[in-house]
Amino acid sequence: NANRRFHPLDTVIDVRGRKLGGDRLQVIAGPCSVETEEQTIKTAIAVKEAGATMLRGGAFKPRTSPYAFQGLGKEGIEILKKARAETGLPIVTEIMDVSDIDLFDDVDVIQVGARNSQNFTLLKALGRLKKPILLKRGLSGTLQELLMSAEYIMSEGNDQVILCERGIRTFETATRNVLDLAAVPLLKQKTHLPITVDPSHATGIASLIEPCALGAIAVGAHALEIEVHIDPEHAWSDGAQSLTPAAFSKTMDKIRAMAEFC
Ligand code: PEP
Ligand code: MN
Repeated sequence: NANRRFHPLDTVIDVRGRKLGGDRLQVIAGPCSVETEEQTIKTAIAVKEAGATMLRGGAFKPRTSPYAFQGLGKEGIEILKKARAETGLPIVTEIMDVSDIDLFDDVDVIQVGARNSQNFTLLKALGRLKKPILLKRGLSGTLQELLMSAEYIMSEGNDQVILCERGIRTFETATRNVLDLAAVPLLKQKTHLPITVDPSHATGIASLIEPCALGAIAVGAHALEIEVHIDPEHAWSDGAQSLTPAAFSKTMDKIRAMAEFC
């Protein structure tokens, strides 16, 4: 199980040779949504050049409005695989529905988003896979609930779970969510699982990504997940919280100055 008491050593998850959970930081970067092959591959090449170690991109998008872009679905996953072939970066992408699970056979890390953080049927199905699962904290989820969701995956046999702090809803509306940095060291006391922080979804504001990423490193995060878009102003989703490749590259310089890397 996820409890540190029964498992004092940190879990280190190998993703195509990248070690998530050790003392080296991993940076997962890429667009909110896979939009086109060109956009995804250009972004993948740019984040790789800047030093990212994994590529993110949503093919199935959990949008607030059903009239907003819902993602390319299966085609989006095919594009991510091409981006991986082009760059060598492992791919991280979100699953929304158990019935799509076979489409994720060749995905390196399956993400469970905040909205599905307590979809127990989905979590149990992912627990029967032999594949790393990046589990995000629920929109108003407590840390205990996050840990119990990890248990749903692990109790079915899959112990490759990565936890993600991505901000929680509070009375504050100045940022999209409130980044709970204390969650990182507290989770590290309670669990041996790797912890990642997503400053993009936590803040909703591109200019806050770098300071919050550095804060996440300071409190001991094992990985960061950052949205990067070649043209944030025209992004099909989450442009306001996406860095340009140039800004991401500068942020990576600061990250490298602070963290042991890769
Ligand atoms: C995402 O990472 O694409 C996403 C939708 O994030 P969250 O589930 O944290 O809102
Ligand atoms: Mn997003």
